[in-house]
Amino acid sequence: MSKTKEIIATARAENRTFLLEHESKAIMQEYGIPVTKFGVATTEEEAVQLASEIGAVVLKVLSPDILHKSDAGGVFLNLQTADEVRAAYQQILANAEKYKQGARITGVIVQEFAKQGVEIIIGSIKDKQFGNTLLFGLGGIFVEVLKDVSFRVAPIIPYDAREMITEIKGYPILTGIRGKEPCDIDAIVNILLQVSKLVTDYPEINELDLNPVFSYPKGAKCVDARIILEEKT
Ligand code: ADP
Ligand code: MG
Repeated sequence: MSKTKEIIATARAENRTFLLEHESKAIMQEYGIPVTKFGVATTEEEAVQLASEIGAVVLKVLSPDILHKSDAGGVFLNLQTADEVRAAYQQILANAEKYKQGARITGVIVQEFAKQGVEIIIGSIKDKQFGNTLLFGLGGIFVEVLKDVSFRVAPIIPYDAREMITEIKGYPILTGIRGKEPCDIDAIVNILLQVSKLVTDYPEINELDLNPVFSYPKGAKCVDARIILEEKT
């Protein structure tokens, strides 16, 4: 069985429609979408061990009861030492409990602290009429305030992906302004195409969110991923 099938089956068996970050990122990996190196810790010791293998790390809460990890005080960035990792691990558990009493904790994801890039958002949502609809935009205020996003119905071809990228108002930010190096557009095109393929292959995916992806002069990296399955009918 493919990894993606397996992960969806596990979630179904546990009556979950929400795939956690480590599950969503494993699916991205199967589709050749670059994600941060990661591992899952269920003890403080495991977190320290994983961190020592990765280097500077990020710790985040993994809980079926927490959709937005930072809202729950569940994201700790750029941890450099074992002590910082231990403190963050404990703080994540405490914050989760404070945020939602009795929140189930699957573990803590330990991942590489990715170098800053241009933040972009890639998503897919199932529209009742059109089916899987892909979304592209720049991260932060560009999406939330300015609604500067583009849409296409999946499946898409490379031409569509390129248009999705070039038609947003913020496109010049990706081509390099004020002496900044241009972003690797081909890498973004590749992610859009792979997401299109994934949601087409698995109609049970209702919603997919790569928010954010860091775009670089060479390549791109997805630092957060979330998939929501359709309710079982
Ligand atoms: P949420 O569930 O709240 O969306 P995220 O995983 O997106 O949590 O983390 C919140 C923010 O932290 C991101 O928007 C990004 O700016 C930053 N971040 C998350 N993971 C990483 C990482 N591995 N490396 C660098 N920055 C990260
Ligand atoms: Mg996010």
